[in-house]
Order: sequence, then C-alpha cells, then structure tokens
Amino acid sequence: MKHFKESITADLLAERALFHLKYSRGKDLRAATTFDKMSCFSHAVRDMAVDGFIATQRKYLDNDVRRVNYLSMEYLIGKMLANNVVALGIVETSKEALKKLDITVEEILELDVEAGLGNGGLGRLAACYLDSLATMELPAYGYGIRYEHGIFRQEFDNGWQCERPDEWLANGYPWELIRPEYTLPVCVYGRVKKNFIPGRGSVDVWEDWQMFEAVPYDVPIIGYGVNTVNMLRLWKSQPAEGFRLDVFNQGDYVRSVEEKNWAENVTKVLYPSDYTYAGKELRLIQEYFLASCSVRDIIRRYKKTHNDFSKFAEKNVVQLNDTHPTLAIVELMRVLHDEEAMPWDKAWDITVNTFCYTNHTLLAEALEKWTVDLLQRVLPRHMQIIYEINHRFLQKLEINFPGDGDLMRAVSLIEEGPHQQVRMANLCVVGSSKVNGVSALHSELLRTKTMPEFDKVYPGKFCNVTNGITHRRWLLKSNPELTGLISDKIGEEWKKDLSLIKTFEDFAKTKAIQKRFMEIKRDNKVELCKVIKELTGEHVSPDSMFDVQIKRLHMYKRQLLKVMHIIYLYQKIKANPKVKIQASTFIFAAKAAPAYLIAKSVIKLINSMADVINHDVDVAGRLKVVFLPDYNVSLAEKIIPAADISEQISTAGLEASGTGNMKLSLNGALTVGTLDGANVEIAQHVGDENIFIFGHRTEELEELRTKGYNPWAYMDKSKDLQNVLEAIRDNIFDPTQPDLFKDIYNDITEHGDFYFYLADFEPYIKCFKKVDKLYETPSKWAEKAILNVARMGWFSSDRSIQNYCDDIWHLERTPIEMV
Ligand SMILES: *Cc1c(COP(=O)(O)O)cnc(C)c1O
Repeated sequence: MKHFKESITADLLAERALFHLKYSRGKDLRAATTFDKMSCFSHAVRDMAVDGFIATQRKYLDNDVRRVNYLSMEYLIGKMLANNVVALGIVETSKEALKKLDITVEEILELDVEAGLGNGGLGRLAACYLDSLATMELPAYGYGIRYEHGIFRQEFDNGWQCERPDEWLANGYPWELIRPEYTLPVCVYGRVKKNFIPGRGSVDVWEDWQMFEAVPYDVPIIGYGVNTVNMLRLWKSQPAEGFRLDVFNQGDYVRSVEEKNWAENVTKVLYPSDYTYAGKELRLIQEYFLASCSVRDIIRRYKKTHNDFSKFAEKNVVQLNDTHPTLAIVELMRVLHDEEAMPWDKAWDITVNTFCYTNHTLLAEALEKWTVDLLQRVLPRHMQIIYEINHRFLQKLEINFPGDGDLMRAVSLIEEGPHQQVRMANLCVVGSSKVNGVSALHSELLRTKTMPEFDKVYPGKFCNVTNGITHRRWLLKSNPELTGLISDKIGEEWKKDLSLIKTFEDFAKTKAIQKRFMEIKRDNKVELCKVIKELTGEHVSPDSMFDVQIKRLHMYKRQLLKVMHIIYLYQKIKANPKVKIQASTFIFAAKAAPAYLIAKSVIKLINSMADVINHDVDVAGRLKVVFLPDYNVSLAEKIIPAADISEQISTAGLEASGTGNMKLSLNGALTVGTLDGANVEIAQHVGDENIFIFGHRTEELEELRTKGYNPWAYMDKSKDLQNVLEAIRDNIFDPTQPDLFKDIYNDITEHGDFYFYLADFEPYIKCFKKVDKLYETPSKWAEKAILNVARMGWFSSDRSIQNYCDDIWHLERTPIEMV
C-alpha cells in the first residue's frame, strides 16, 4: 500500500522548517534560538502529517464509518515531537534535516512542550489509548479540554511542596490547529418554564441562560507505521461574540470585563486533585462544557450524512473516561428530546445505546456527587431530566423487584439526606449499555462489592478491560538500547505487535544476553544519575540498586510504607554501622494534591529523611534517598528505563489498575507489590517466581476490617516497627521541629490506620530480604528481569483497545489508502 510517509525527505523537512522560521517567526537561521528551531521543526513535522490527516477524515466521512468518541477531562500527553517522529518513521531523516538547522535532535527534543493536561494514571491512559486507536487504524476522536494551565509545576521549598502554574502555552503549542469555524455556544444558569407549543403541547423550556463559547483546537494523533492520523479535539472557552455589548456601550467597562473573564475562566486550569471529589461550581461548569460541546460536535458531524437519528447509536459510541463527562448523557437526552422534539423513550433508547462508561476507582472520597441545589442552579433543565430518568428507572424496577426498598435506595440516582445529591456513577450505569472496570480484580470488586444491586438489575452490563500502555512511547522511544537488543535477537516485527516480544524469553538464560541486559540497565542508570545530580545536587552510584516509587502521592498508594522501610534500614545501620545492607538508591517522584495536607507532609518527611540519610557518615553512601521534583511524563520516561525495583505497594483492593506497574515491568524492573489492581495479572503473566508479591490480600483485609483491626497489636509485637513509628512521631530528622510529623503518626495509629500500613509492614520487610538476596546474583536477577520484559506483551494498550473493540465498541479497522 502506498504510504504518505514515504515521500518525506530530509530536504523537504528542512525546507519546511526554514519556511516556518522565516514566515511564522520572522527570523533567519542566525537569529533563531533553540526554541525557534524546535517550534519550526515541530511545525514542519506536523505539516508532514497533514496529508494523512485529511485522507483519514475524508475516508471516515465518505464511508460513514462507526466511530468511537473518547470523552476525557484529562489527557496526560507529555512531549509529542519524538513520538511523532517515530510514528512517521523519520528518525534518521530528522537527524539529517536538523543538521541543516545547525542543531542536534537531543537539543530540540529537550525543549519540546510538555502537555500535562491530566493528573496521573487516568489522563495517561487516555493518551495511550489515542495512540493505539490511531495505530490500529480505528475511527476515533478524542475530546478534552484545552486547559490554559495543566497540572501544576512542583517545586520544593525547604522540603515542602510548592505549586507553580504550568505555562505550557506561553510560547505557543506547535501541534494544535485552531478551528474557529466549528465554534459552539454553551449555556448555563437560567430557569425552566412550561410553554405551550402548538403540536407538542406543554413543554419545558430552558431560558434566561448565560451563553459563552467553545472553540476547538485539534491535535493530530499520528498512527505508527500507518496512514491513519486521528484527532484529539480540545475545547477552549471564550466569551460569546458581542458579549454584553449593551453594558459596554453604557460605559460600564469593568463589569463587562469581569463578565468576560467568567467565560475565559472555565478552561483556565486543570483541577489538580485526583481521587478526591471537590464539588466546586466552576468544576461542574467545566465538566458540562466538555460534555455539551462534544455531544453537539458529534451530532453536527453525524448530521452531515444523515437526515434523522435512527442510525445515531449505530454510527457512534461515546466512551466516558470516569464519571467526569457524565453530563454528556443528560445533554444528549436534552438535545434529542427538547431540541429535536423526539419522544422520551426513543431518545432514551438512542442515548443508552450510545454511551459506555469506564469506572476508575472504588475509593468513596473519589465518587462524584453533585448537590441537587447546585445542579439546579447551574443546569436547571438537566436537573429536571435527571429526575425524570430516575423516576422512570425506579418505576420499571418496581415492576421487576416490587417492594425492594433497599435495592431502590442503593441504585437511585439521588442520594437522600439533608442535602440531596446526584450520584454520577449511578447515572452512568443507568445511562450506558456497558460498564467496565480497569483490571480483573477491580472489575470483579466493582460488580460484586461496590455495585452488586446494579449487577442484579442489569445482568451482563458489567465487564472488564484491563488497562494497557503504549510500548511505542514506553519502550521504543524511552529505552532505545533495550529496544535495539530485543530487535537484534528477535527481529523488528514485535514493534508492531507487542505480543511477539514473547520470543525474547528464549534468551533469558543466555549469559551473554544477561550481561548485555545488565549493561544496558547500567547505561540507563548512568543517564538517570546525571538527571538526579541536576535536579537534586545529589551524587548517586549507578552500582546501587535503584528502587523506584513514582506515582501521585496518596495514602492508599503507600509511599509512607516505603519510608518506613527506609527508616528501618537506617536504624539498623545506626545500631550497627557494620551491618550488611544492599546498597540502594530510593527514588521517589510524586505530586500531592495542593489541599491534601497529609500527603504534603509525607513529601516533607521524605525530603527531611533524605537530608539526614544522604549526609550521615555511618551510612557512607549505602543508602541514598532522592525525591525528584515535578513528576511528569518526560521525567517518567527517564526514570523507568533505569529502575531495578518497581514499587507497587497500594493497600489491596484500592488501586484500580495502575499503569506505572506495566511501564516498569516492560523495562525490566522487578515488581515488589501487593495483590492489587493489574499487579494480579502481571503476576499471572510474568510468573509468580519473577515478581515479589507480599502483604494482605483484599479479602484478608476485609476480614480484618469486620473483625476489628487494631494497629497497636502490630506495634506490640514488633520492636522494629515501634522504633520506626517513634522516629516519625518524634521527627528524628530535625530535633528543632519535633511535632512536624505527629499527624502522620496519628493517622496510622490512633486514627485506625485506614490503609493498613502496620499490618503490611512485617511482610514488606521480609519481602526485601528476598529481593536483596536475588540482587547479589546479577545473572539470576537478569534472567527474571528479561522474563518480565518478554512476558509483558499482553499489557500493550493495543490489546486493551482490541478488547474494547471486541466486547464494547464493535468497531472495524478502517485502513487509509493514499491516492
Ligand atoms: C503512568 C503514569 C502515571 C500512573 O502511575 P501509577 O503508578 O499507575 O499510579 C502517573 N503519572 C505519570 C506521569 C505517568 O506516566
């Protein structure tokens, strides 16, 4: 098949870049900064994708294909240039072209813009899925928000986290195409009135609303080695045209600007909390903003080739990434019923057949619930529709489950109480045809423990799609040396189909390959050492074991358990400076939600501990602790290839899937983990003997909870544990501030140790005895690490997307031919 990428030459690329330099930035090569060159080269690369982009959109339109619309409040994309260069197959061509711009690829890539439009795993998952969808030649659209400020930049001030605004758009974003012609209005506030309309009778009319606008910015998503170029459509809010001109004319300038600001603020900033629910009005408007303009954009596109809605659900599936875009369900009902005058039952049928919902968490504090008061004020008509959906749903239930009040209360969309609340997860389940969890364990817990009543009401609606990661970013791009070794041994085909990496297993016992594997790991560690030096000033040895815990900071993820382990080791050394201990570098990277105070205390604790341990002569470099600031996708790409140990130690039953676990294992780190989320399936794939599983299982913790868990009992049994906890309680790291970490101590003792730190402490310590012993024999370590790499093929996001296609979306591959 003809490939548009084949015509890309170094001359063409360089010429395009110089054109952009001259005509977009008004400079010649002599005056150009490195940023200018990066920007112009990125524009040139984007130009190369345009033919594919046009051909792809044309084909979808002409063939009237069924499409998936992925709605997500977050896309944690990271840098895009290197990824796109790989996808276009122009790695060598780019090197050649950049010579003509007097700059190296490395210099350019370092300056690429980091798109951090997400908090963590959920947003990164959305980015991986877009990559897989394009590569698998599937008709897909991503919908999201173009936040002016993505996830905050993290700095440390005296060990405490400080948040600084992310200014990713300050110098322009080369990958986006603004589309003002597709601007849509969005309305909020107002009231509902009954009106009589001839032919329709009495209808509810939403009026006196305030209007603003959504402008789409499209980011091309280039498939790897194929012609498909899909798009991610990001919406930016702005005041409606001619906004408040009346006020303006009367000279009330300040008021008009204030009102203008209101509209701009909607997409100003990403809410930096994850796994917590805030209930803020602006966030509600943000969620509705995404839901509303995405739904109406999908309808607009559908109407290009259809005169009625009879095929809407056949041509579109809308996947909700968590409950954040739930209002899309209500918005589609509103458009079909109110605007298109469709009878309720018909509109509802189309709606349910269009939507599918992915649940991401079982944590109670993360479940979205909006008070009826707020919803009524911001979206009065939508609140009415939600009541109507609930009314009809409960009425039907009364027929099938007469008199079952407990069931009704559990599944109702409305939670009764002093303040009535709308349960967004319930609305999603009722309004979707499929509901999936994100790992086998999580999906099972969702179905049987969190929503058993819904499983009874809707047998067969719940299913599982285990998360995945794109190996194109998380191996090919981030770990070129390991990629080269694998290709040397098994050829290149595995790059297109990660399941083929399996045959690399045959080399796990080969001494020369083990040696080469460990050399590559060491090279990657040397590279990371430079980054660590730059970011923290700390000198660490690439010959120590790199023990890595990188993820959002959360009590359920238990960074604090790692801290307890490190304090334990430190105290062993202090008690006997000659004690034999595996030389280790403990690497943390994590952002805490700005309002999550105890998580921020844990950051301070790690930094305080690092300060003392790194400079204690008794330790003599055997233990090093580094906390790398500002964890993001690019930093992850540098840390992961250098990791020996992957810490996945969440409280069993609470990590829905995890994807960091997959990235690390694919890069040959051995997992130390609980039986939680996708760790369960990773263990099944890599083999129990190639992973370190420890700690209480979900059902064991359940039993502890019901019997009455007593953290003190574990303290009484273990002097080591006592010493560790007292070190935190009394802050041995800074005697001038003895009370600094009392809250942390109280949390895991008096306040009941909700996340079972004390119950899992001893098993964790014991587990590391095995880890350390294995690390002493590099050949055995390498064998297991290689087996991890070779057996992780199943965790490609291509497999996840295939599961979605087979079980939920029923989408067909649509290859793009170039004419
Ligand atoms: C993969 C990734 C995550 C998710 O990590 P978990 O360990 O699964 O929580 C979060 N942030 C970034 C930047 C990532 O790349």
